[in-house]
Amino acid sequence: MASGRLLSDDLALPDAHGQSPHPMDSSRVLLGLMTLSRKATDAEAVPEANGPLEGVISAAVLRSLLSALHFRDVATVRHARRVAQLVVGMAQYLGWEGRQLKLLEIAALLHDIGKIGVPDNILFKPGGLSSDEANLMALHHAVGVDVLQACRVDKEVLEIVGQARDEYGSPACGLRRTGSAMSLGARLLAVSDAYDSLRTEQVYRKGKSHEEIMRILMDNAGTQFDGNIVCALARWSQESGLAHTPTAQGDGGGGPVRALGPAHPEEALEASTLCNIFSYLYVLESLYDGFYLLDSDMRFVVWNSGSERLLGHRTHDMLGRVWTHRALSYAEASGQPYPEHDSPIHHVMASGRATTTTVKIRHADGQWIDVETQSVPLLDEQGHLQGIAEIFRDLSRPSRRPQEYRDLRLAATRDPLTSVANRGELETQLTLLLAESTRTNWAEPFSVIFVDVDHFKRINDELGHGVGDAVLVEVARLLQHETYSGELVGRYGGEEFVVLCPGTELEQGVKRAERVRLALSRTRLAELDRPLTASFGVTQAEPGDSVESVLRRADKALYAAKHDGRNLTRSLSLAEQNRGELVQATPELVPQNKVFQGTFVTMVAADMLVYKMGGFVTDEKAKLLEVTPNRVLLRVGQRGLLPFWGGSDDRRPVDVEVNFGEPQRSEVRGRKVGTAKVLVTVRIRPVGWIRDKETFDERAARVLRQLSSYFAAQGE
Ligand code: GH3
Ligand code: MG
Ligand code: MG
Repeated sequence: MASGRLLSDDLALPDAHGQSPHPMDSSRVLLGLMTLSRKATDAEAVPEANGPLEGVISAAVLRSLLSALHFRDVATVRHARRVAQLVVGMAQYLGWEGRQLKLLEIAALLHDIGKIGVPDNILFKPGGLSSDEANLMALHHAVGVDVLQACRVDKEVLEIVGQARDEYGSPACGLRRTGSAMSLGARLLAVSDAYDSLRTEQVYRKGKSHEEIMRILMDNAGTQFDGNIVCALARWSQESGLAHTPTAQGDGGGGPVRALGPAHPEEALEASTLCNIFSYLYVLESLYDGFYLLDSDMRFVVWNSGSERLLGHRTHDMLGRVWTHRALSYAEASGQPYPEHDSPIHHVMASGRATTTTVKIRHADGQWIDVETQSVPLLDEQGHLQGIAEIFRDLSRPSRRPQEYRDLRLAATRDPLTSVANRGELETQLTLLLAESTRTNWAEPFSVIFVDVDHFKRINDELGHGVGDAVLVEVARLLQHETYSGELVGRYGGEEFVVLCPGTELEQGVKRAERVRLALSRTRLAELDRPLTASFGVTQAEPGDSVESVLRRADKALYAAKHDGRNLTRSLSLAEQNRGELVQATPELVPQNKVFQGTFVTMVAADMLVYKMGGFVTDEKAKLLEVTPNRVLLRVGQRGLLPFWGGSDDRRPVDVEVNFGEPQRSEVRGRKVGTAKVLVTVRIRPVGWIRDKETFDERAARVLRQLSSYFAAQGE
């Protein structure tokens, strides 16, 4: 038996920074699933704690699952609750009651639970899916059932959820077959699910009216839907008033179990662990042909639909059964049967190490099948065996390449234009940072920087969208280049970026933002004929913060930076926000690289130029900084104690550079005549922090007019 390549080798995924590989450790993730499974068993031991859900599902597990779904996709939670309401209403109308009704309701609440693991770019994709993406999406059903099995959900619920399968990609989305073997519960759920999906406004499709939906359901009655149930829906919807309610938008009301999002960071952490488990199950479902899970008592906890297909044993019969030589018969690749106490599973138990082996396994019909099995021990931190997973690859068919999955998974966390993390990934990582900070009692600080490119719209307007895109790519590259100590750079949207800085206090965060800001303003982009700048808002996360509150505070600081003139860094701490303040990020003067340039022509004789300047200097109380025959540099206006520009012109200092060109006399038939003309070029730069660009432009234009008036009056 060879100890060979494991899942974890296949699935070393690059981390969010695309640098060090972050191994998706199969045994650790599956151990997480076993932990969930034990949570369910523990709950069974105290039936009174479970209330009305007794024997159907553990209330704690149901809450965890719905909370994780809420964490991933609120819309699906709302859909599930509306479907539950609908299916219960219809079933009651048909005379259902008691436990059967409860089972149906729980099945409806959980029928889309597998969507927790669907990558963002597929789950939230506005348009149609590619065939690869649709295949991955279609697995959500199998993944959901795997988790529900592990959670020891009542077998009837599993059956209803499993049968009411969503054939993703079918024309009207959500239309399915009746299938004679389908239980009545599954048929009710299929119709309710289709009704709500069609009724709800989707990104890619408008919600349909009740009449339209009933027509679609009727047209497909007998083929995709159970005609009797469609008729029952038609009658019940009239009696209950459903037919007259507007498009589905609510969240399905209260019900016995309220679906809530994670209320605390610990819950968010749990939700994110569950998300990992679900994503991992997508890997198993998409790359392998079957798998099962044994608990520490060697009982089957999960027997997935792939194993059912591959080996012919029904899930219903396998779950809860003890693993024995009779339950699954193995033979060596050569065909020699394994002795009774010698099989890959026995080896794992003896060695505690994962193995990969090529074996034959007997199908329920007696045939031997060639498979590659990976047997993985699930060991807890103390090294105790909590369970075993066995994963099959059917050797009679070509294997799928892990690379394909890796590409899909990577695409899910990246912004396609700039390849930095996307918004979903940023929010996931921020959630994890918050949860980790709570867990460690805020031993480590962390800060968040919000970045918004200045006047980006102009670039698009003047140079085109293509140049705009290229500039965004450059900005993302620069942000990554300038942050190198564990920060995560992501694109939040449009021309907005966010940098998460673990282990960073506010003050350091501000310094980092300033470094990046200066680097950007000094970088000359090939695409642009002008400097590109951005504004920065910084905040530090504090106890009690949520993803939303941290980002909102950083955004407020950013807004202040915009308001105060752009190309600036502003910070806002929680305390300052509570006091209603917004303070300066950097105490030193930030010279603006804005320049206002103007020219005028004067006829003043060259030797009179500097003299004329003298009048301006005296009247405007300007300070001469530098004087040469062709150039005068002076400062107009006073700097105050604070570096800001004040409310009046004398508090809005500018540096004025005046350049006199060569005197040019007109020529008449080769002879120079009249007084020489001099071209005066004036460059005006702000001193200190300007509040906004308009104020500066107006101030500079006034200075230019005043200056020219000292020369202009002098005609020929
Ligand atoms: P401000 O300094 O106040 O931030 O001004 P602004 O022009 O940068 O801000 P505004 O929010 O008004 O404009 C942002 C523009 O970014 C509008 C939108 O057309 C453009 N934009 C958003 N996403 C993209 C993209 O992916 N590519 C390109 N080229 N432009 C984008
Ligand atoms: Mg902008
Ligand atoms: Mg913007």
